[in-house]
Amino acid sequence: MDTREKVIQELDKRYNRLVGTSATNLCTHCGWCIESCHIFKATGNPEHSPVAKAEKVRRVLKRKHDWLSRLFPKWTGAKDLTESDLDEWIEAAFKNCTLCERCVINCPMGVETPQILATARGVLTAMGKSPEILNQLTDAAIAREENMEMMEGFFRKQIANLEKQVQERMNDSNARIPVSEEADILYVPLSGAHTMVPAALIFNAAKANWTMSLFEASNYGVFVADIPKAKKVVERVLKEAKKVKAKTLVVTECGHAYGVLKWEAPKWFGKQFDFEVKSLLEVMNDYIQEGKIVLDPSKNSEPVTYHDPCNIGRKGGIFEEPRNVIQASSKEYKEMTPSKVENFCCGGGSGMVACSEWTEDRLLYGTVKVEQIKKTNAKKVVTACDNCLHQIKELGEKNNLNISVSNVSEHLANALVFS
Ligand code: SF4
Ligand code: SF4
Repeated sequence: MDTREKVIQELDKRYNRLVGTSATNLCTHCGWCIESCHIFKATGNPEHSPVAKAEKVRRVLKRKHDWLSRLFPKWTGAKDLTESDLDEWIEAAFKNCTLCERCVINCPMGVETPQILATARGVLTAMGKSPEILNQLTDAAIAREENMEMMEGFFRKQIANLEKQVQERMNDSNARIPVSEEADILYVPLSGAHTMVPAALIFNAAKANWTMSLFEASNYGVFVADIPKAKKVVERVLKEAKKVKAKTLVVTECGHAYGVLKWEAPKWFGKQFDFEVKSLLEVMNDYIQEGKIVLDPSKNSEPVTYHDPCNIGRKGGIFEEPRNVIQASSKEYKEMTPSKVENFCCGGGSGMVACSEWTEDRLLYGTVKVEQIKKTNAKKVVTACDNCLHQIKELGEKNNLNISVSNVSEHLANALVFS
């Protein structure tokens, strides 16, 4: 089978009603989506508009699946696939689209441009053409479970050191970071201490019945649209949730991990889980509303703004909880414009932060975010996703924004009053 045939076969495997409708029927080429894309706005390059990026894949799909395009391809702009198309797909689907979905909500026809480009990601991965680092990070997550006997002792030692920090900050030698023990809440962090220590302070302050997962929440399999591998990464946590008898799985501040565990994985496995999935943002807000934690907002005295991560906000609908948490733990809150469902992507999403070969492009794609931050006059940006955190820190340094950047739990933990 030659490359062209193999690509067509891989495209066919992924062709479903959503991709089919968006690919062949809906786009009227009206151009309304163009200005909605932070990447087009940053570069002004027509090739970076949502419609142009999707068209690179759509014209191939149309040639096969649209009757008019089968008969009169020149009329409809359809074309047969060539090998050079794949290089264009890498640019369009991996480098020049963060799958943020802002174009979808700004399209009068609801065209699912990111679905089309995610389909291209899956095909490129099957052809061995996706960014190698994203595949390596997926494989590393799977290997962690396979080598757990070796990893576990080391991980527990690291957590014991972090537990000492928590005890010192709380001035309480009974404060704990339980690891993979039976508990109501299984908290799934990322690999950095900034996703562990603040969460541990909050769970201890609220006297929650919780435990920390042995695994990290991130799932790079979803960035390369390799669903079999992404499922394996999720399975580790599902097994652990069953083992610890968790009633609630709390996902740390990570946009794609929340999306994977909240709505993607139940579709992949064809069932709802036996436990509830919540973002740490929702849990922190619950603790405040229920009076389980005490806060001193004067501990966060600088003006602060919030960046809505695309997966948590636009896709996940979590807008008010982080705002409630930040406002309850700060003296002065500044809203970004636009925000919530219309917020612009920071430019670091969907694996871009990990792809060092595209660092310069990524920082350019953050131009709109830089302008938004400047307009707030905030001295601190708080966000709820590690990719956004990393990107906004780098944007701040590169553009001399003179801001600090943190996740929401760090911000809240800084305002905690321990009794
Ligand atoms: S994707 Fe939607 S907004 Fe963009 S050109 Fe097509 S129909 Fe118009
Ligand atoms: S999903 Fe986001 S990055 Fe991709 S084309 Fe649409 S607006 Fe641009």
